[in-house]
Amino acid sequence: MYSLAIRNGIVFDGEKFIGKTNIYVDGDKIVKITNERLDAKEEVNAEGYFVMPGLIDAHLHLTGIRGGSLLMGYLLDDPRTRLLRAANWARELLMAGFTTVRDCGEPNSIILRNAINEGIIPGPRIIAAGSPITQTFGHAELSHSLPLEWSIQLGFGEICDGVDECIKAARKVLRSGADFIKIMATGGVLSERDRPEWPQLTPEEMSAIVREAEKVGTYVAAHAHGDKGARIAVEAGVRTIEHGSLITEETVKLMAEKGVSLTPTLSIQELIYKYGKQMGIDPWGLEKIGQVREGVINSIKLARKYGVMILAGTDLGFKTGLDIDMGKNWVEVKLLVELGGLSSEEALRAATGNASKMLRLNTGIIREGYLADIVLINGNPLENINDIARVSTVIKGGKVTVENGKLI
Ligand SMILES: [Zn+2]
Repeated sequence: MYSLAIRNGIVFDGEKFIGKTNIYVDGDKIVKITNERLDAKEEVNAEGYFVMPGLIDAHLHLTGIRGGSLLMGYLLDDPRTRLLRAANWARELLMAGFTTVRDCGEPNSIILRNAINEGIIPGPRIIAAGSPITQTFGHAELSHSLPLEWSIQLGFGEICDGVDECIKAARKVLRSGADFIKIMATGGVLSERDRPEWPQLTPEEMSAIVREAEKVGTYVAAHAHGDKGARIAVEAGVRTIEHGSLITEETVKLMAEKGVSLTPTLSIQELIYKYGKQMGIDPWGLEKIGQVREGVINSIKLARKYGVMILAGTDLGFKTGLDIDMGKNWVEVKLLVELGGLSSEEALRAATGNASKMLRLNTGIIREGYLADIVLINGNPLENINDIARVSTVIKGGKVTVENGKLI
């Protein structure tokens, strides 16, 4: 006898549309997909609903920061207060249909992950980077005007220079419980005085970090806007390029060859571009956003041309109360269609099957043997991508956790 049956939904399995069928679950796993009617202890009637894998946001930051200034948040908020706010975010993410998120830099996310896994609070599965690794005068310093000691005290990035320090930093991050390593391979938008096109960390430093990650069976994700830093990161063996807004055709070709994915993070760019000023984004962020926002559309085009896998990742780290917001992370899927030119099916894949493959997850695809992380949508996002916002039921690990939009 199966523990759960999800009957008669119209199913997109994370890779392709398969049409009307039944999904049978035993414990936390999908065990059978068939048109046959079999008995189960619990039933979900999905007649008239669109059924797909739980959504995956492959790039966010569970900072718990209010307002738009990362720097002020890290400087002035107690990390415990931020953690409690982020616990709320986790619940909202689950209710929005996200059963897995990859946190690309926020030490608290390791604690959140553990609390969710223990069943203390509701939330998605969290794949956590802990502290991102950055060089001195690097992107994860946020401000380059503070005394360096203060940057270290902020507790956001793990700052290191030279191969030996990078090895130590990688081991410290892994020791803290990180699932993978995030590095800053170029400057960025929300860091004060570096430029997105500037490479950061040397090839030797990046290779050393990749080696440490691979030794414990994991991988490196690289924040990279500029082409030079992105190229060095790809050559050093990172698995995912984050942002990639200024990468050239040559680098994209190399990514395709080496099986490296691109997370274009359109949501954060639109958020800062449209609402940055009213949100109180640090002034350097407002100044630098135009350049990366324009570039990334070309990067997506190139990625599609060469078959580089695209992942849906918002890069949200704020609660904004706006139409682009933590808890509305499906906005990335819409933007991938509206701005990125992806088909609806490609965009759904970016938030499910692609992430499953690139991040080596046992979720994100509706297939026998995979975790039963499944959502029901009141609509059809293949026909109208806006319907991705209409998640009504969320099943995580074989348990119905959200029903008719309410947490149970
Ligand atoms: Zn990020």
